[in-house]
Amino acid sequence: MSAEAVTAGCRPGCGACCIAPSISSAIPGMPDGKPAGVRCVQLDDDNLCRLFGDPRRPAVCERFAFDPALCGEHREQALARIASLEVAT
Ligand code: SF4
Ligand code: SF4
Repeated sequence: MSAEAVTAGCRPGCGACCIAPSISSAIPGMPDGKPAGVRCVQLDDDNLCRLFGDPRRPAVCERFAFDPALCGEHREQALARIASLEVAT
């Protein structure tokens, strides 16, 4: 997903997909990855990724491109939907 496509839909400052899902690959500062529901250490105070454009950003993070069905209309909806998806898989 290109940066242009991501910014076209993604809500700046949402960050739900950096909190709700588990990430099994290593993240700088989180060598064992991240459990579901835990805030990524690379998510800054504005809920933006500190690693955006950085090769150390886990490839899996690209997976969470904006998807209206998942991201919903606001952050709480995205958190809930991603969390329920996490339970289902
Ligand atoms: S959950 Fe969706 S809207 Fe929120 S940061 Fe992730 S891609 Fe963007
Ligand atoms: S590395 Fe960046 S994109 Fe990936 S979960 Fe952490 S804050 Fe989100």
